[in-house]
Amino acid sequence: EKPDWLARALARAGIFPQDEADDAIRAGRVSINGRVAKMALAPVPPGATVKVDGLVVSLDAPATRVLAFHKPAGLLSSTERQHRTGTVFEALLPQLPPELARYTWHAVGRLDVDSTGLLLFTNDDKLVAHATSPDTRLPKRYVATVFSIADDEKVEPLRRGMTLDDGPARPAKVQVRDEHTVEVTLTEGRHHQVKRMLGAVGLPVRALHREAVGGVSLDGIPEGTYRLLTDDEVHEGL
Ligand code: URA
Repeated sequence: EKPDWLARALARAGIFPQDEADDAIRAGRVSINGRVAKMALAPVPPGATVKVDGLVVSLDAPATRVLAFHKPAGLLSSTERQHRTGTVFEALLPQLPPELARYTWHAVGRLDVDSTGLLLFTNDDKLVAHATSPDTRLPKRYVATVFSIADDEKVEPLRRGMTLDDGPARPAKVQVRDEHTVEVTLTEGRHHQVKRMLGAVGLPVRALHREAVGGVSLDGIPEGTYRLLTDDEVHEGL
């Protein structure tokens, strides 16, 4: 086992958000094996006793938590918390109760700024890697509103598998719901992929909404709000 850095270990365990961990350490509130640690990068030996404000804290990895957020249009989708305005983090984080706010959240993939719908967040960076890897083939279901008239013949190339600028795309599941509404399910997620696939067959996208990722859907989550998934939903759905 490699020693972990103190600030990172505290943040990973959900004791403090990363930036607050640095402040607490600098303020002399944290000790390792009885000695006050003044550096965020102090190594924490395996099995060390770490105290915050004199109380022992557990640095064991916390349970995986996943939030399902209903992204409104106009918010920028960054994958990590950034100190800039207009991001999904700025909309989500202030809504979290203290027991969730203390984690470091990562977005699971991205949605375009004008896209709406389901965006997952987790405190578990391994889950991000798993869920976003094309090898996992986690299905993502989108509903596109298109400018021109859609029919089965036009969307056939998406079902067969088409070649995009950045290489071949896997065959997609496609359903024409009505002449301006097309449901597309992908098992990969490249930049602007749905828009590029539909654009290439003469169906430019007017609006794009993600309804589901794996077994998790947006049902019952009003726009701009989130829901904490249950452990079963996380284990069975992602
Ligand atoms: N495909 C797109 O084109 N945009 C998204 O936001 C997601 C998938």
